[in-house]
Amino acid sequence: MRWSTFLPVGALVALGRAIPTPSKRLPTRDLYPNNYGPNNNYPNDYYPNQDTSSSSGSSPYLRRAVPTGLIINHCTTPGIVALTFDDGPYIYTTQLLDKLASFSPPIHATFFVNGANWVSAIDDESTPYPGILRRMLSEGHQIASHTWSHLDLTTASTAQRVEQVTKLEDVLLRVVRVKPKYIRPPYATCENGCLEDLEGMGYHVVNFDLDTKDYENDSESGIQVSVNKFNSELGSNPATDSAIVLSHDVHRWTVERLVDEMVGTVRARGFRTGTVGECLGDPESGWYA
Ligand SMILES: [Zn+2]
Repeated sequence: MRWSTFLPVGALVALGRAIPTPSKRLPTRDLYPNNYGPNNNYPNDYYPNQDTSSSSGSSPYLRRAVPTGLIINHCTTPGIVALTFDDGPYIYTTQLLDKLASFSPPIHATFFVNGANWVSAIDDESTPYPGILRRMLSEGHQIASHTWSHLDLTTASTAQRVEQVTKLEDVLLRVVRVKPKYIRPPYATCENGCLEDLEGMGYHVVNFDLDTKDYENDSESGIQVSVNKFNSELGSNPATDSAIVLSHDVHRWTVERLVDEMVGTVRARGFRTGTVGECLGDPESGWYA
């Protein structure tokens, strides 16, 4: 896959629903028909569905590299639900990996990991966490960055941003031998030059368009609120709809119940699950630097 053969992607519009977009990120050009894309109701379909089955000589509207320098909130491939898990790994992550592997076919998810957040250091070989990271990779999941220690990148300095990103890169390179190209900023916020800094480090910045708010509902009865939210916000038409779903593997009831419920709904409505890279039409070779 030679993404460089496609049109360059510059600073395009990203009017995210979840977070505000810096005003200087207004579009410099509009490469796309206004009504193109699977989710026309969303204002930030800055690039269209990617038909990865088409040949390299196809229309530029059909395939495009995943952009940097803006916030991605939506899949570009309809029919895919990208389950994402932030803030781990933690004590529930092994159980989650067991569960994801137990589905038929297995679920491939995306883990936006921290280096030191709910655990003190993910590279401590006396803990299960390095092995958990290696297992994620070997079982087809995508590992992405959520920074070293979950610092708010909007209020951080450029030096702090670089430290937060590169410290996790160094550890992941040592433990799993990959350096992610996808990042989700903590608190879903990346302003005040943050996007430019992450672009400078080569990252695709990915938030979400379906927030389960599992962090507010982590109890046996409470998690039903997140289940209901997921069921009501997920679209019903796999031919046009998709989702990037925010949840967290650091919460017990996310792992114990929400995941089963989400997968049940996804499959009952005819969707399939996939990684963030997959839902953006990016082959696995593009997930890591
Ligand atoms: Zn987080």
